[in-house]
Amino acid sequence: MVAVSKTFNTEHIIAAYAAGQKIFGENRLQEALEKIEQLNGYSDINFHFIGHIQSNKVKYFNNYFSLIQSVDRIELAEKIDRKACEGHFIQDILIQVNLTREAQKSGVYVENLNGLINSVCKLKNLVLCGFMYIPPYRENPEENRELFREMKKLYDSYKIKIGDENFKYLSMGMSGDFEIAIEEGSNMVRVGTAIFGSRNY
Ligand SMILES: *Cc1c(COP(=O)(O)O)cnc(C)c1O
Repeated sequence: MVAVSKTFNTEHIIAAYAAGQKIFGENRLQEALEKIEQLNGYSDINFHFIGHIQSNKVKYFNNYFSLIQSVDRIELAEKIDRKACEGHFIQDILIQVNLTREAQKSGVYVENLNGLINSVCKLKNLVLCGFMYIPPYRENPEENRELFREMKKLYDSYKIKIGDENFKYLSMGMSGDFEIAIEEGSNMVRVGTAIFGSRNY
């Protein structure tokens, strides 16, 4: 489980850490970097980056995130790879999939997924660890069950095709729908509100 700590300060993170949580998710780079800096002394706290990444911001991504969940285009993957090469680190990533082609959302469309995976697998400083998925918002999350199921099928088929033991995470499920996502095969959930309370953006 990734505890999504965006908008919450490091006191909240430390409280969750004291309860045993080690992985936290952030979706804004500046905010994430400030918290990572403040939590420098906690060597076993890991951060995942789960938000949209502008290509011109990749230069600020050092070895700060144990997993970048939101890679969705070749240009971005190549930039992260170059950054990792320069910094002498290996970066674990997930590819974010936009299954239902929502225009306002990040994520690669399914018809471009194969090409993106082929390109990513050639990049020596990236390790492709699976997929991340955010379904459309629904009042009743049951309505997304079928989409979670479809993502699991896609994940399983690529798991066989890629044949790499590092490809092992299907990140889907948030506060409102994680039970359904898990029932349909998720093995990584990103939960914010249900842990930290509601955010007042
Ligand atoms: C904010 C966020 C979450 C957590 O959402 P909650 O509904 O608060 O659990 C999960 N994944 C991503 C990508 C997010 O941006």
